Amino acid sequence: MRIAVYPGSFDPVTNGHLDIIERAAILFDRLIVAVSLNPGKQPLFSVEERMDMLKEVTQPFYNVIVDAFNGLTVNFAKKNEAQAIIRGLRAISDFENEFMMALTNKKLQTSVETVFLMTRAEYSFISSSAVKEVASFGGCVKDMVPPVVAERLREKFKNR
Ligand code: ADP
Repeated sequence: MRIAVYPGSFDPVTNGHLDIIERAAILFDRLIVAVSLNPGKQPLFSVEERMDMLKEVTQPFYNVIVDAFNGLTVNFAKKNEAQAIIRGLRAISDFENEFMMALTNKKLQTSVETVFLMTRAEYSFISSSAVKEVASFGGCVKDMVPPVVAERLREKFKNR
């Protein structure tokens, strides 16, 4: 069985993430979308909220599981018997950091491969941070995130 982990902050999940999920789910028997509890970042949405949104938008994919993890991605991958870590690439600017991370992970765990999927051109400009910024000023994010996420963003910023 081919298993992959797609780790990320997913704060919140965007159409760009969803496209990567959809494509990775075709390549692997099981895809575990894993929310990383990165203490270095101050998230807008709690882990539970991020997982709820992910579960809702990945419901159509029978082989996609949503989970969360603390610590090293390679350890989480190993624990779940995954052979691969999925990452998405948008631009050259993503490359350096992703390259370093992939090499570090390879050093830590040689049996786990990082697989990069290139963004779709129409999603290349989408990032969670841009989505949050647009939504915080009341801008329209309907082409950037699934409807449930747009609704959650509206709720979030209404109360601020
Ligand atoms: P992280 O904090 O781990 O970077 P993100 O949620 O920002 O978490 O991103 C998770 C993964 O999804 C990363 O590999 C990132 O490059 C990728 N990604 C984010 N947005 C897009 C997009 N629009 N198209 C393709 N990949 C994307």
